Amino acid sequence: MPLALAERSNLIAPSATLMMAAEAKRLKAEGIAVLDFALGEPDFPTPDNIQEAARRAMQSGQTHYTPPAGIPELRQALADLYTKRHGLPTQAAQTVISNGAKHSIHNALMAVCGPGDEVIIPAPYWVSYSDLVKLTGATPIIIETPESSGFKLTPEQFSAAVTPRSKLLMINSPSNPTGVVYSRGELEALADAVLKTQVGVLSDEIYEQLTYNGEQPTCFATLRPALAERTITISGVSKTYAMTGWRIGWAIAPLAVAKFMGDLQSQETSNPCSVSQWAALEAINGPQDSVVAMKEQFTKRRAYVLERIAALPNVTCIPPGGAFYAFMNVSAHFGRTLGGKVVTNSTEFCLTALASAHVALVMGAAFGAEGYARLSFATDMRTLEKGFDALERFLG
Ligand code: PMP
Ligand code: GLU
Repeated sequence: MPLALAERSNLIAPSATLMMAAEAKRLKAEGIAVLDFALGEPDFPTPDNIQEAARRAMQSGQTHYTPPAGIPELRQALADLYTKRHGLPTQAAQTVISNGAKHSIHNALMAVCGPGDEVIIPAPYWVSYSDLVKLTGATPIIIETPESSGFKLTPEQFSAAVTPRSKLLMINSPSNPTGVVYSRGELEALADAVLKTQVGVLSDEIYEQLTYNGEQPTCFATLRPALAERTITISGVSKTYAMTGWRIGWAIAPLAVAKFMGDLQSQETSNPCSVSQWAALEAINGPQDSVVAMKEQFTKRRAYVLERIAALPNVTCIPPGGAFYAFMNVSAHFGRTLGGKVVTNSTEFCLTALASAHVALVMGAAFGAEGYARLSFATDMRTLEKGFDALERFLG
């Protein structure tokens, strides 16, 4: 008898973003020049000062286990960062460093959610949210936020979704995949609705430093004094510092939640990579000019992408206020024959675009929003130019 998988194995699908990226890589290995906009990862090298800090850490023997929740230096640096820059009074004991923000989200959900609980997730949502909720035994309650409402959850929608089982609301501003940035006022209104209930909040703020056109990020936990004890803030270095491979993310959580997350890590992974933690410390405390330089590039690419999308036949897109994604409405093309096939949904659209135009996008369906295709502009200009030329031919 083959070894049977646990029932849990039915709960999750492979991450669609990583799956599309792997498929693009496979075609590239076959010698096909794929124009790859699948993955949300900065194409820039990790800044030199950060690399240098990692070298120093290795050379000075920081190559052993660390405390499970992270080195005290980094935890204190985060406490200072949130206290001083975000205005959220934070103790080091409330911070937990994990192997990337994805891991932080997983451990935060493990800390507070279980069978019988409901987690409210506005769609479009980042691909991993619903599956990570399911892994805890809780049920994702997906609330559609249509393009006509700017892809934003309203307080009324939130209140209508709340039941006695509701445990958590997951919000993500700036958002992956839409790039939407909620205004402070919109988040305050949501916060007030949340405070009328027993529901906690997981606020994923990983794109906080990547906003455009005067949009401002908001640290949700600071909006009302009562929020800090029921909010888990997630962020990390992957996007801001081009450090996706280093795998460092964090949670700022109420003390008991942070304590459990650290205990969980002590049993699960011991600690995030020691060298990466020292690199992340330099990222946070060191010079920030590379962040400014990368943001300038993203700003230029965003403008270019919006110009090219406007020229594509029957494709629309709400200009992203943050992150580095364009969430294109491609539904006008459903029912058409593209690349020799009738395309009826976002998955077929993206698979056909990859197979016939060699352009890698991610299907809206993976983000809980049929009718869309996500393009990551964390990609160099030359590739963007060629990619839009290819998309134009594909749709023309
Ligand atoms: N949250 C969002 C919204 C993301 O887009 C990502 C993308 N990687 C993550 C969390 C996880 O980031 P990482 O694990 O690389 O730190
Ligand atoms: N968050 C990025 C994306 O959405 C990286 C891939 C992933 O972690 O799923 O493309």
